[in-house]
Amino acid sequence: MKPAAFEYHAPTTIDEAIELLSEHAQNDGRILAGGQSLVPTMAFRLARPTHLIDINDINDLNTLKEEDNTLQIGATVRHAKFHERVCSGVLGSLLTDVVHNIAHYPIRQRGTFCGSIAHSDPASEWCLIAATLDATMVAASKKGERYIPAAEFFETIMTTSLEQDELLKEVRIPLLSNDTVYGFEEFSRRAGDFAISMTLVTYRLESGKIINPHVGIGGAEDRPRRISAAEDALLDQLPNSETFLKAAKAASEFIDPMEDHATTAQYRRDLTETLVRRALEKTLV
Ligand SMILES: Cc1cc2nc3c(=O)[nH]c(=O)nc-3n(C[C@H](O)[C@H](O)[C@H](O)COP(=O)(O)OP(=O)(O)OC[C@H]3O[C@@H](n4cnc5c(N)ncnc54)[C@H](O)[C@@H]3O)c2cc1C
Repeated sequence: MKPAAFEYHAPTTIDEAIELLSEHAQNDGRILAGGQSLVPTMAFRLARPTHLIDINDINDLNTLKEEDNTLQIGATVRHAKFHERVCSGVLGSLLTDVVHNIAHYPIRQRGTFCGSIAHSDPASEWCLIAATLDATMVAASKKGERYIPAAEFFETIMTTSLEQDELLKEVRIPLLSNDTVYGFEEFSRRAGDFAISMTLVTYRLESGKIINPHVGIGGAEDRPRRISAAEDALLDQLPNSETFLKAAKAASEFIDPMEDHATTAQYRRDLTETLVRRALEKTLV
């Protein structure tokens, strides 16, 4: 099928894009970033935006910088940019490790980091990273800029707290200290598919015990989020198999997994326990 008719706009400045959004958002005017999620849904006519505001010609959105102890990722930075390290330290390694789990090589050449965050598929790897590491989303509209913490951004499946007339201008991820360890694990049925469940864990050690644990789960629930029960099970404990198993079980009991025609909630729960345990074990390698 072909998409329904729409009017195409190609602004070259952020102000122009925001102006167009404020004019057309109420009639389902939409931002077009990499088009890797939006265009297929338009082709199936599941989405019928009347206006497309293509942000790819806005040079000021193609930015990647380290500032204020955060990595700041502009709205048109593509997934493929993360095939190479984009920042120093542990966060640089983490992003490079995770990017290869996103879709397929051609999709990564076009799809954008911020497009994934705005689209908010529960199984998006970048959304999991944003939720686990407490990223901040910078939303811009005619009213000005708004800074939205990840815990308030992801609401449910493909639904965020971004207003219709807001452009997701940038995502800011806190840099990780050099003594932070991490483990990432996901499971999908075929290479390149969305994950049925996935997890990112990070922590540091002080006097041999775990401090500042972050345990995020994506794909299993309707949105990615940190799982406090698993983090509590890790805090102030020795990093060993017994601690990791307790945290993995806590995560699996705490979540409210989705169900679909191919996967039961119990399957996602069991899978999540295994993935959290494996991700934690990876931190010792
Ligand atoms: C076969 C296939 C497999 C895939 N597998 C994965 C996977 O394993 N993991 C994964 O994470 N993703 C996967 N994807 C999705 C892919 O990563 C997309 O690139 C991503 O979801 C959306 O980014 P985009 O830049 O293409 O956004 P677009 O498709 O252009 O936009 C998506 C939505 O977000 C809105 N939007 C985009 N940018 C902004 C912005 N800056 N401000 C406000 N709104 C905005 C658009 O209006 C639209 O509603 C897959 C896609 C395909 C086709």
